[in-house]
Amino acid sequence: MKTTRRNFIQQSAQLAAAGAAIGIIGHQELFASSPSVLQFSQIALPYGYPALEPSIDAQTMEIHYTKHHAAYVKNVNEAIQAEKITATDEKSFFANVSKLSAKARNNGGGVWNHNFFWQCMKPNGGGQPSGKIAEALQSTFGSLDKFKEQFTQAAMTRFGSGWAWLIVDDGKLKITSTPNQDNPLMDVAESKGTPLLALDVWEHAYYLKYQNKRNEYVGNWWNVVNWDFAASQLK
Ligand code: MN
Repeated sequence: MKTTRRNFIQQSAQLAAAGAAIGIIGHQELFASSPSVLQFSQIALPYGYPALEPSIDAQTMEIHYTKHHAAYVKNVNEAIQAEKITATDEKSFFANVSKLSAKARNNGGGVWNHNFFWQCMKPNGGGQPSGKIAEALQSTFGSLDKFKEQFTQAAMTRFGSGWAWLIVDDGKLKITSTPNQDNPLMDVAESKGTPLLALDVWEHAYYLKYQNKRNEYVGNWWNVVNWDFAASQLK
């Protein structure tokens, strides 16, 4: 059937409505008829903007989610289209990111990292992990406190903008950090693995409330850590 402009507009409106209705469901469902088109999207924030106060203030959360994170989505999807990127899923996009443009790499990482980061936090979080991840942290780092010290060190020594990560690689837990919006799924990462926990140490993540005091931000972040989510990533 010939696609008229009118049909195209109608179809686009229907797709947009479907996308809005299903919210966090990714592109595969939305673009089932054209699975080769990778589109990144923002997950729905699992809590309200003020929900992580006082560790993270509502204004920071709102700007972070609606401006920074949203911009990464727009920019990476532009890059995918303009550069005719052929990856069909996020994992293969990151596994071959060294072959892509800086725009694709930085913004693709920006989308994925924030989607992951939002889930690493929850209101009334913190406390102690339990189960397999608690045992793994204990056996790898000696104690939960020692793990937190080393993770904090990674967050504090990441110069400029970047992320601190707890990852699992070949069954072993590791702490690492990445510059800019790189992540441990990328082929360019110094230390690769499956992320379990991520902390955004870009100034935009804390500057309104903490100014230059990254150490206070990191210290208070432990009070909103979602250990259940981290545990769920340790397969
Ligand atoms: Mn950020």
